Amino acid sequence: MAHIVILGAGYAGLGTARKLAKIAPSDTKIDLIDRNVQHVESIKLYQVAAGTAQPDEISFDIQSVLPANVNFIQATVTKVDYENKKVEFSDHEDLTYDYVVLGLGFRSENFGMSGADNYSYKLQDIPTAQKIYQVINSNIRNYKQSQDPNDLNIAVCGAGFTGIELLGELIETVKILKAKYSVPKINITCLEMAPQILPMFDSKLAQYALDFLTKNGIKIMTGAKIQKIEPNAVVYTQGESDTEQRVYANSIIWTVGVSGSDVIKDSGFDAKRNRIVVTDYLNIADHPEIYVVGDDSASMDPKSGRPLPTTGQLALAQANVAAQNIVADIKQQAQKKFVYKSKGTVASLGPNSGIAEIQMTNPHVKLKGKMAALAKKFSFEQVLFEVGGLKGIKNN
Ligand code: NAD
Repeated sequence: MAHIVILGAGYAGLGTARKLAKIAPSDTKIDLIDRNVQHVESIKLYQVAAGTAQPDEISFDIQSVLPANVNFIQATVTKVDYENKKVEFSDHEDLTYDYVVLGLGFRSENFGMSGADNYSYKLQDIPTAQKIYQVINSNIRNYKQSQDPNDLNIAVCGAGFTGIELLGELIETVKILKAKYSVPKINITCLEMAPQILPMFDSKLAQYALDFLTKNGIKIMTGAKIQKIEPNAVVYTQGESDTEQRVYANSIIWTVGVSGSDVIKDSGFDAKRNRIVVTDYLNIADHPEIYVVGDDSASMDPKSGRPLPTTGQLALAQANVAAQNIVADIKQQAQKKFVYKSKGTVASLGPNSGIAEIQMTNPHVKLKGKMAALAKKFSFEQVLFEVGGLKGIKNN
């Protein structure tokens, strides 16, 4: 009898567990571990940060979507002792395994930036998302008393997917808060060091997103390299210049990138930003009993020679293949190479707009505005269906 321990019930871990439940031999023991009892739709966290969704609208009970042959354990993983094939926890006895699947997700990365942890608010889970909304709301509310113009200034650091989707969602939020607290104009500025935003999209779509955000009052500063964060300012240099400049704001949001889980580093795995380069079969070359999926894994893109960017879609595709390969190994059958075919890329710009490039068709279909928002809704539902079945959709 094989014992499979899956660490993390995000898209990757939950997807692996559900697939294994269907295809593993009936005497397989499958444990799914998470420190929380709820699965969080992390691709929607920006909505909680903007106050447009409540935590329970973007999460559901893990056990409610688990087949009977998956055993859920609420526990906090501290380390994988891979030499002895066991997992250690801060609040549970060690678990030994025949196969382990690492799917512990991401955390916000500060890149050692001075002041980032103390003076800006990161977006990585429900509590940090709620904190962002609280900070924005309380600063704007405070303006009437303080008359501090920085209370009305919001700075978003980084214009990656997270930053852009948050900016789009904040457009509505600031309209509501402006009316609620009868304050003058609320200013949103985004600082991005790259020369353009959304380089992964066709340039016309990226331009559409830029125009949409700008038209809605958001100032996007490209070529602005953040150097440090001060209590009420983002310090940056522009282009090649060494001169430090400042964007003043009392609400500073940090979305400049992510790392995999610190359990990767604490376990002594060879990794970069807590992401482990996996084989074509999604396991570790020296330890084939260890599979890595989702944000903790680096699946190399043969075209670019670089790790594929992490997304919910990629995590689910990996989960499917990792589960099949574990079962193939148990049955001593040939394993399957992971070949990633993106279905498409979608970025929302608030609830009713966005940009999307559907890659399942040749040529790609490019959508903007309302049609892209619909594509986003459809892709959310597809992800939810894969991790939670009909219940996943109904619960949201
Ligand atoms: P990211 O790494 O994609 O973006 C961070 C941005 O911050 C980059 O544009 C980078 O140039 C900028 N930046 C970094 N250092 C900076 C500095 N010193 N000064 C100014 N700008 C700086 O991170 P993210 O947006 O948090 O996304 C994390 C991962 O999750 C990515 O792989 C992303 O693709 C994925 N994601 C995908 C979706 C989606 O598919 N809709 C949504 C959210 C996140």
